[in-house]
Amino acid sequence: MGLIVQKFGGSSVADAESIRRVAWIIAEAYSEGKNVVVVLSAQADTTDDLIAKAKELNPNPSMREMDVLLSTGEQASIALMAMALETLGLPVVSLTGWQVGMNTDSSYGSARIKGVSAERLKAELDRRRIVLVAGFQGINKFDDITTIGRGGSDTTAVALAVTLNAEICRIYTDVEGIFTGDPNKLPGAKKLDEITYDEMIELATLGAQVLHNRSVEMAKRYGVKMEVLSSLVRKPGTIVKGVTKMEHMKISGVAKDSDIARIALVGLKDEPGVAFKMFRVLANEKINIDIILQSIGRNNTNDISFTVSRSDMEKAVNVLEENKDIIGYTDISTTDKIAKVSIVGAGMMSSPGVAAMMFEALYDSKINIAMISTSEIKISVLVDENDADRSVAAIHAKFFGA
Ligand code: ASP
Ligand code: MG
Repeated sequence: MGLIVQKFGGSSVADAESIRRVAWIIAEAYSEGKNVVVVLSAQADTTDDLIAKAKELNPNPSMREMDVLLSTGEQASIALMAMALETLGLPVVSLTGWQVGMNTDSSYGSARIKGVSAERLKAELDRRRIVLVAGFQGINKFDDITTIGRGGSDTTAVALAVTLNAEICRIYTDVEGIFTGDPNKLPGAKKLDEITYDEMIELATLGAQVLHNRSVEMAKRYGVKMEVLSSLVRKPGTIVKGVTKMEHMKISGVAKDSDIARIALVGLKDEPGVAFKMFRVLANEKINIDIILQSIGRNNTNDISFTVSRSDMEKAVNVLEENKDIIGYTDISTTDKIAKVSIVGAGMMSSPGVAAMMFEALYDSKINIAMISTSEIKISVLVDENDADRSVAAIHAKFFGA
């Protein structure tokens, strides 16, 4: 018998009406003869509200207690949904992370899933019950409750799909799928029928906040087919899989990331080992580097600029200043008034001219590019923060029409 995993996000279970609507979606899949495992998030703003409550009592609560608290949101959702399904006369059972054996490491707040033991889950499925699983939570080797990071219920769903060898992992949300750009800002944004794991990972990282990045990475690793679709409108969403057939599509989407800052070291010596020393000290502080650019040397000196997330800027500058003598440079300059705009598409590997089209769109809008970086399936530019939305619109119009 086929098995599917369905995951419903916080907005899909926000109130009694939404829960009833979702109960019907679950009931339909079950009555088609499928085994159904459902992962739920906490209702609407519940997780944020719980965090606020914690801070009222203790500005620095221990992570362990924080996870005990935050896991309650998902537990409430599964119980409520079970009650709604009971009224439809369906056999249902709700299970928490520990009851399904969702084993994680002990990094409270951002735990990694190590494996799912799943005996209980399988026993319940054998009895033809619909199984509702609390997302976002697990258990560590001390039998303590953990949570796996904000937005983590998607990853719970994929982990269960892997364990149970599901046909598909459907992620229901409040949008109809993955779009070529933010549909709230770009009237011409189009829904994609399909997207590859790699493209989805890039888009997720670039701030298209539809899917938890780790869920797509896991789906890719184990070849789990995902679908992102709406719990409000009953139509097909976007399939996320290994290879897509849309060869005619040059790119799949345009995305903006404003959480970025640029740091430049000026007057570095033009000799071996300089970049190594500079990035070693940053790595020692666990600072993630994104784009790196080295200028062509002149008078035996070089400039190197790079980007980090805004929250890391101060830390990066401090450690570079502390190590000024070791690295050897004359000046350091920074800005966080910038944004990264990117296009993503597996199609760009086989279609020449994609970069030119992107740069032409920016030129037509008189937007200056501060830095460029490329990978096989992505081209990113840094632009002034104030030009970011205009850049996205211009590039999107160039590739997809206004
Ligand atoms: N409830 C958690 C959060 O708000 C997990 C999730 O929704 O996926 O981040
Ligand atoms: Mg989410």
